[in-house]
Amino acid sequence: MPLRLTNTLSDRKEEFTPLTPGRVGVYVCGITVYDLPHIGHARFLVAFDTAVRFLRWSKLHVTYVRNWTDVDDKIIKRANERGEDPAVFSARYIEECKRDMAPLGVASADIEPKATEHVPEMIALIEKLGKGRPGWHIECSAMSQKYLGTTFDVHGGGKDLVFPHHENEIAQSEAASDQPLARFWLHNGFMTMDSEKMSKSLGNVRNIRDLLKSWDGESIRAFLLSTPYRHPISFNDMALADADGRVEYFYETLHKADVYLAAKKFSGRGAIEGPTRDAFREAMEDDLNTAQALAIVNELYKQLNANIDGKAAAQKVADLRAEVIDFGRVLGLGEREPIEAIRDRRSLAAHRKGIDLGWVEERIRERLAARKAKDFARADAIRAEVSAKGVELRDAATGTDWRVLP
Ligand SMILES: [Zn+2]
Repeated sequence: MPLRLTNTLSDRKEEFTPLTPGRVGVYVCGITVYDLPHIGHARFLVAFDTAVRFLRWSKLHVTYVRNWTDVDDKIIKRANERGEDPAVFSARYIEECKRDMAPLGVASADIEPKATEHVPEMIALIEKLGKGRPGWHIECSAMSQKYLGTTFDVHGGGKDLVFPHHENEIAQSEAASDQPLARFWLHNGFMTMDSEKMSKSLGNVRNIRDLLKSWDGESIRAFLLSTPYRHPISFNDMALADADGRVEYFYETLHKADVYLAAKKFSGRGAIEGPTRDAFREAMEDDLNTAQALAIVNELYKQLNANIDGKAAAQKVADLRAEVIDFGRVLGLGEREPIEAIRDRRSLAAHRKGIDLGWVEERIRERLAARKAKDFARADAIRAEVSAKGVELRDAATGTDWRVLP
């Protein structure tokens, strides 16, 4: 089945074929940098990051352009309030933004043009159109044309940009070139906070930086992908915890598979089955339905788990492992080294529940000593003590490991 994308221009799902076979140009309106990014920013960044990952997985050569609006009235005002040079101020927030997006698996775009570095291009465009001044709308007209040409394949952004930003971009670009600007316009839906509008005045805007103190970035990503990008999505801690449990299950299963394959001394490669790959691809080809794609990956993880428990042949386990890794690469989930991810995630879970890591380690040492002294009653008492705090001890040949119970 071909890729079908809902095009805001027609408000219909249309079959997508690139202008130049095998190559796709994507322009996405980036962030205006005057504060730390919030969950709404994460939504569009993750949505288009995933779209680009899928296009690349489909063997298309993608040029992804995502701009930084590093000068505007708000930036200047905020910088002045702080007595800072606006250029230094915005450059700092670009770095802050990159720092917060990395844990969510949002890769850099191929080209990340800054508005301040394209003023001559904006002026040249304005000169074609008549009187005007460089501003937000002309910035994207100038930069998209410079890097992707007069007409390109995909223009994306948040739904709030349809009007006036994108209508103005179209008016300016098309008046100047007499050619269509972008062929496909993709807009991600709104994000609400507990079904309320997200706004500074309501005080319910959640920064990514704050969320990352308690939650794994990958869990935030899984939460965002659990709803198709065009749909509205309601943020709440329960939904995030739900996504977190899913990611936990992924890494626990991957680790289990690694242990299983190592025990079987399996050194071959896993193969990806055609029908499974087709099902995953079809989900994504249906307007990038990440909710469906995620459900398929979830089901594969379940199968992987069941196969390990059922002592299946190593090749079968390796095949399923290869599938979840391959599809996970498109979704940006399950890409880390399982052991490391499990450790990092455990620290965050402990932080959320107020469990002191040192205290747990100390109890484990104490329990080990009790067992060595054959004081099993004491060892059991320690297990019960940590369990009451939400910690599960797991004994293995290599020692005692632990995890935070959900
Ligand atoms: Zn724009």
